[in-house]
Amino acid sequence: MNFSDSEIVASILNENDFESTNEIRDADVIFINTCSIRDHAEQRVRKRLEFMQSLKKKNPLLVIGMLGCMAERLKKQLLEEEQALDLIAGPDSYRDLPRLLTEVASGNKAINTLLSIDETYADISPIRYDSNGISAFISIMRGCENYCAYCVVPYVRGKERSRDADSILSEAKVLFQNGFREVTLLGQNVNSYHWKLDGTEASFATLLKKVASLDPLLRIRFATSHPKNLSDELIQTIAEKNNICKSIHLPVQSGSTHILNHMNRGYTRDLYLERIHAIRTFLPDCAISTDIIAGFCDETEEDHQETLSLMEHVAFDYAFMFRYSERPDTLAADRYKDNVPIEIKDRRLKEIIELQQKLSFKSNKKDVGKTFEVLIEGFSKRSTEFFSGRNSQNKVVIFPITQNIPGDYVQVKINQSTSATLIGEIC
Ligand code: SAH
Ligand code: SF4
Repeated sequence: MNFSDSEIVASILNENDFESTNEIRDADVIFINTCSIRDHAEQRVRKRLEFMQSLKKKNPLLVIGMLGCMAERLKKQLLEEEQALDLIAGPDSYRDLPRLLTEVASGNKAINTLLSIDETYADISPIRYDSNGISAFISIMRGCENYCAYCVVPYVRGKERSRDADSILSEAKVLFQNGFREVTLLGQNVNSYHWKLDGTEASFATLLKKVASLDPLLRIRFATSHPKNLSDELIQTIAEKNNICKSIHLPVQSGSTHILNHMNRGYTRDLYLERIHAIRTFLPDCAISTDIIAGFCDETEEDHQETLSLMEHVAFDYAFMFRYSERPDTLAADRYKDNVPIEIKDRRLKEIIELQQKLSFKSNKKDVGKTFEVLIEGFSKRSTEFFSGRNSQNKVVIFPITQNIPGDYVQVKINQSTSATLIGEIC
């Protein structure tokens, strides 16, 4: 999501006669786009600012600005704490950046952290400045109002709002015309996407169908789906269209109903498993990935065991796994105690990661011998003798290069696997 915001910022600045550079030492203005999800992310930004301060010593006119969630969360306090910073802009203030920069040029520190109820940057065409030219993100909504007890997002990104469906469709169309072959529709909870104008209404399933109908050669992915809103209509839409990828990211967070209630997630273990059953029934070859938090407030050993057993039961193909990190102002910080000792959080996280490695390994091993349609994205990271691409299930596939080029779809037969990659050859 932050990546997608940086592309919007690049576009706004480009319209105002700024150019981007890949060499940080050549820059006159540096923006750091920040995340507040875990404390660790904020600590890394603070370290980065120390380095930026050293650049300022060599170039006293250098302007340093902080964008995004950490800017929104800490506001003016950051200008007091971080000597290096000249400018602060929250996620809904990017159109104001040119004015803020003028204010800095006249010798002041500048700040805008107002949240909006309707800003979606729908009319801004993002600059794909760090792209492989094949896959791109399209932000379809902003904000979140789910208020999961651990999560800072609703406080730093404001109210949920959906972007104009027509502007999403034209962005996807232009990307396709420019050679892109895959778009990922992004939102904190894409299943609650809803657009209504002049009597026309679009749910997420309708939008997905419309984007998928632009061209059969354009692949569609989306993230993130919230389990409480994953409808049968959406599952059936994914089943109907070949170019909607068979891969669903469905963050479970915990396998224990007690902890899920405590987290304010809006579903139980059984409801989550029922949704998994629906996916397996209508989309038998669909990959399922998830997010898991270890050591949330009051999590017992039994709750943790329930997470491990749910992971085994679902057999996730992939997971992002985190140690619970208390975030100021959230429901959990205000009302609960962060009472799982750090050694226990770490041990539980380690068990979760080890189990997921086994599950990913098994899942990839099952693919050996199968043939997949793969969209070539470019050379593999390790060798220019191999191409790298993804199958519909979002698994990375590596295979020896041929006369094909990135953007081509090829059939690849898998003959080896690791827990992270499938290795094969074009057939
Ligand atoms: N909107 C998405 C996820 C957004 S944040 C959803 O609801 O699933 C991405 C992931 O970060 C979350 O799924 C969660 O697993 C993790 N996360 C969020 N807040 C956290 C916290 N305070 N400590 C640890 N992990 C957290
Ligand atoms: Fe955070 Fe929950 Fe919203 Fe996801 S759905 S962004 S976890 S509040």
